[in-house]
Amino acid sequence: MKNSSNTNGKPLIIPQPIRKDGAGGPDLGPRDVMRDLQNPDMLVPPVTDNGLLPNLRMSFSDTHMQLNHGGWSREITVRDLPIATTLAGVNMSLTPGGVRELHWHQQSEWAYMIWGTARITSVDPSGRNFIADVGPGDLWFFPKGLPHSIQGLDDGCEFLLVFDDGSFSDLNTLSISDWFAHTPKEVLSVNFGLPESAFQSIPTEQVYIFQDQVPDSLASQEVQSPYGTVPLSFKHRLLAQKPIITPGGSVRIVDSTNFPISTTVAAALVEIKPGGMRELHWHPNADEWQYYLTGQGRMTVFGGNGIARTFDYRAGDVGYVPIAMGHYIENTGTDTLWFLEMFRSDRFEDISLNQWMALTPEELVRDNLNASPELLHALRKEKWPVV
Ligand code: MN
Ligand code: MN
Repeated sequence: MKNSSNTNGKPLIIPQPIRKDGAGGPDLGPRDVMRDLQNPDMLVPPVTDNGLLPNLRMSFSDTHMQLNHGGWSREITVRDLPIATTLAGVNMSLTPGGVRELHWHQQSEWAYMIWGTARITSVDPSGRNFIADVGPGDLWFFPKGLPHSIQGLDDGCEFLLVFDDGSFSDLNTLSISDWFAHTPKEVLSVNFGLPESAFQSIPTEQVYIFQDQVPDSLASQEVQSPYGTVPLSFKHRLLAQKPIITPGGSVRIVDSTNFPISTTVAAALVEIKPGGMRELHWHPNADEWQYYLTGQGRMTVFGGNGIARTFDYRAGDVGYVPIAMGHYIENTGTDTLWFLEMFRSDRFEDISLNQWMALTPEELVRDNLNASPELLHALRKEKWPVV
């Protein structure tokens, strides 16, 4: 057995499922060494891991790619990550001019622009319209049932869509081309007051994504509705929001308090510097659906009754934490870790372990945990950013 080989001039240490105390033994294969290298806490779990927590990680790299002229999409739903029942996610890219066609669905759509720019359109039940351009770090929210579209601008774009139902699929929405294709031509004729020949060239099946020209300026495409524009903006500039700065990084929180239209999805954009950690905490109101944007980290989820499981995450991964389960996220790499955490709720809520302990009578904490004087001293000095 070789313990190391040479890859691009760099020695590759082949990790083995052996703990420092000698527990375990070598894995002589068959095995996927690249995956083992990416998942050190899966190969050699911390001794504190225990019990039967189900899988809490899925990579977009392990999902089906839907390739169209004009862009691509892939999704992580309850089909791929069965525990994730509250939210589903779609990673999509549109070329310059590429269009995610006019469509709608039974779920609300929350989105984060990763890179590039797009033009989004929608109309509400009162005939008020919304047409806007979105760029990196911007969000949009389309309430359930409202029609909308997305079109890539000059350089194209890539974004994450989040839906407030884990069983959603973006390949199973209601789209304008599909409806036209499945409506009798004589009905289209009556509906639009035109001869059937006016519908000779319509698509015969759902278009989904198609290649179009890059549209002209927003001003040139303005459509005046007699009812005006939607009263609550469907767009929010999350990255432009002033962050809460912490010693290990930063956080930007968005929910219906600062993005009022987003009544079913709350989120935080979190930055963790190398060596930093998102402290031990939980969320009392909802499951957490995570999307890792850059860097790498690890999370242990504590499920009560002695149950805990640790996962490694990297850019492009999705993580999940059931409601109220304790967890932390530690940056295990040399780059800054950026990730999004989303909740099916109108409010972002979390409980910090440190803050809880610091706000509880010290004698109680001391006697409950047999806490050391150092721990009690540290709790007395706890400071929190004013949110
Ligand atoms: Mn949609
Ligand atoms: Mn969390």
